[in-house]
Amino acid sequence: MLPKITVDDGTCLGPHECGLCMKLCPMTVFIAGHTKVWKFRETDPKDYRVYARYYDQCVMCNKCVEACPVSAITITADEVASAAELLAEPMAEQPASLS
Ligand code: SF4
Ligand code: SF4
Repeated sequence: MLPKITVDDGTCLGPHECGLCMKLCPMTVFIAGHTKVWKFRETDPKDYRVYARYYDQCVMCNKCVEACPVSAITITADEVASAAELLAEPMAEQPASLS
């Protein structure tokens, strides 16, 4: 099972103000990405948020959840099936030929 990692943007303090999850994750799952791109000027630091970009690398050690000072991270493992499980499922029946 691949984990589903959710970062609550409304609660998260932001990658610049906190960033603990990014520092502590042993698998470098989290990245900081901007939400807006300004033409001809730098992106405001407030316009960055934390993304669980490489969630498929997560080993479910729970360090990020325990470290987050505002409990903004949720990890569940039973909502997304792994690629191997999806491939193991029998294929759906093909529609009957129109000929
Ligand atoms: S549970 Fe562990 S490996 Fe997974 S995102 Fe959190 S710190 Fe990283
Ligand atoms: S540890 Fe929590 S508050 Fe800090 S950047 Fe990560 S999700 Fe946001």
